[in-house]
Amino acid sequence: MIRLIDLRDTPAATSAARYRALVPRAPFDVEAALETVRPVCEDVRHRGEAAVLEATARFDGVERDRIAVPRDEIAAALESLDPAVHHALVESIRRLRLTCEAELERDVTTEPAPGAQVERRVVPVDRVGLYVPGGLAPLVSSVVMNAVPAQVAGVGSLALASPPQRDLGGAVHPTVLAACALLGIDEVYAVGGAQAVAMFAYGAGPCDPVDLVTGPGNIYVVAAKRLVKGTVGIDAEAGPTEIAILADDTADPAFVAADLISQAEHDPLAAAVLVTESQRLVTAVGHELERQVPAAKHADRIRTSLTSEQSGAVLVRDVDQGLDVVNAYAAEHLEIQTRDAASVAAQVRNAGAVFVGGFAPVSLGDYAAGSNHVLPTAGCACHSSGLSVRSFAKTMQVVHYDAGALAEIGPQVVTLAEAEDLPSHGAAVAVRLDAIAGGREAG
Ligand code: NAD
Repeated sequence: MIRLIDLRDTPAATSAARYRALVPRAPFDVEAALETVRPVCEDVRHRGEAAVLEATARFDGVERDRIAVPRDEIAAALESLDPAVHHALVESIRRLRLTCEAELERDVTTEPAPGAQVERRVVPVDRVGLYVPGGLAPLVSSVVMNAVPAQVAGVGSLALASPPQRDLGGAVHPTVLAACALLGIDEVYAVGGAQAVAMFAYGAGPCDPVDLVTGPGNIYVVAAKRLVKGTVGIDAEAGPTEIAILADDTADPAFVAADLISQAEHDPLAAAVLVTESQRLVTAVGHELERQVPAAKHADRIRTSLTSEQSGAVLVRDVDQGLDVVNAYAAEHLEIQTRDAASVAAQVRNAGAVFVGGFAPVSLGDYAAGSNHVLPTAGCACHSSGLSVRSFAKTMQVVHYDAGALAEIGPQVVTLAEAEDLPSHGAAVAVRLDAIAGGREAG
């Protein structure tokens, strides 16, 4: 079902850039999507809620007369939540909160000289907009993955948006609302896609502008985030999902196939890539895909993803070459299903998240591993990280110098200012050095 790419004869010194060109990747054209989302975002910027509602009618096929979800609807969703889902959500929240609390960064103060202190203060963002996808599936887990690190970071104001569901009369999916209630989020908007990102960035109706927009989404969400970046902060570009599996002949073909299918289920643009030295595994996984895909609920979407150019099985000489390939590819999710998986995983440099061994499938991380599932896609794992407490905080430097400390370093500041031909910079220090020489203490 998936195509084969044989890289066994590729020279040992092949560069990462060359591997990136050889390995399958989605024709993920954010630039083209920008053309679609730019007028939508501009309209929201100028006309606010009316423009959001019009875009909702156009892209979601839903007529609503307001964007906000009433608070009693959010509370009622929790009342009627299936107890098993309630229990699973509570455990998912508990595990993620534990890892987030351990990640919390502390303030740091250093003393470069007597009388001089530089504090690095960690300050949460004031207000965030959390995006929860809901086009093809209502991603209730993304409520948890967005909100928990934001709350642990200490963000004071959280707004959340998720697409209205056509088959629910334009309501946000009740399980998404229940998860909001469980986490104490009461500002929720029934808005999806680019219009949601623009609403957060520019404000619309009852939604005040935010400082930071986070969360995964489809290509339109990714394009809109790229567009508003600068007006607001964004997390990494977390677009259509990807799984790469580095496996050898010890891997269970049924596990490997199930994991490829699990991510292909997200989106026809999702990517599923197997990297292996074992021709036998490729054949066995192929048989498993033929067996498992027809039985899957979303078989059509899965087949589209698996047979498209972004998916494939890559044959390599050995695990070392496999590591070069996966490090170049920088998958959102990387599974290691090889002998001595932990030591192979230790050599991975580029991936959104790594899942080690046969019993840590990506689906575990999607819901309840204690890790975050909002992860960089399209190779962005080379430079970006998944969502975490750190995403919701910024650091601020606070500088304290007394007169003696300034007197000590001041002449060197004047020297450097003159070297840059910015003598007024130097003068701002020199005026104080004169005062100190004249016996005046700084106020
Ligand atoms: P979504 O909520 O991201 O997008 C749905 C919205 O897209 C709709 O509300 C609609 O307004 C807009 N839209 C649809 N078609 C449009 C068009 N032609 N023009 C303009 N706007 C349009 O939900 P989705 O589509 O199900 O996508 C969710 C995505 O999130 C999947 O690709 C999934 O793989 C990805 N995801 C990524 C991560 C990650 O961390 N990288 C995690 C979870 C999910």
